[in-house]
Amino acid sequence: MSAIAERLQSVRAQVAAAAERVGRAPDGVRLVAVSKNHSVEAVAEAAAAGQVLFGENRVQEAAGKVSALPDHLDWHLIGHLQMNKVRKALPLFRMIESVDSAELAHAIDRIAEELGLIVPVLLQVNAAEDPAKYGFTAESVRETLPGLLRLPRLQIRGLMTIPAFTEDAEGARPAFSRLRELRDALEHEQGIRLPELSMGMSHDFPVAIAEGATLVRVGTAIFGEREKA
Ligand SMILES: *Cc1c(COP(=O)(O)O)cnc(C)c1O
Repeated sequence: MSAIAERLQSVRAQVAAAAERVGRAPDGVRLVAVSKNHSVEAVAEAAAAGQVLFGENRVQEAAGKVSALPDHLDWHLIGHLQMNKVRKALPLFRMIESVDSAELAHAIDRIAEELGLIVPVLLQVNAAEDPAKYGFTAESVRETLPGLLRLPRLQIRGLMTIPAFTEDAEGARPAFSRLRELRDALEHEQGIRLPELSMGMSHDFPVAIAEGATLVRVGTAIFGEREKA
């Protein structure tokens, strides 16, 4: 078995164990294998080991991989999307997890209309309330959501967050539980379903699963350390 296949198997087992510990069905958590800065060959190894869903943070890099790899793979965009890349991005990605402003949401809706697409998205919430990061604050997502729900080409499926880094995985727990509580509140206030919570990375995904993650974005634990871009 290749190193990537072995690590993938181990991460899958840890995902299932984390779900079972809190009484959740293991298939209620989907693993996004974050392949940014890793080669087409590395992705192909993971795909050969049965991984279908991959995460990329740059449109250009993703375009190269999508065209070089089998069609049955699904790709999620997990990094900041610049306005001038929306047109190129929409046909590549099954989901945009990183919608981080109302302006971007409107641009996606407009271009999706031109391209005849419906685009599943997550709203990125800056749970750490760190102004240096992209994303909505809890307050701004509350104010903005009603308007975004009227955009016909946008399918808002839930929320995504990247918490401030903490040495100890438990340090991220409050940010994860706040995201879940925010989701629950928005569902109640708007009378809608927001089924997806994308949270948890290599060092803290079991904690995120305990707090309700439905998508975990795991790179290093599958592919090893990234080359600096
Ligand atoms: C790189 C990245 C990840 C994966 O991080 P690892 O620590 O390598 O698992 C997850 N989410 C986002 C948004 C990323 O940019």
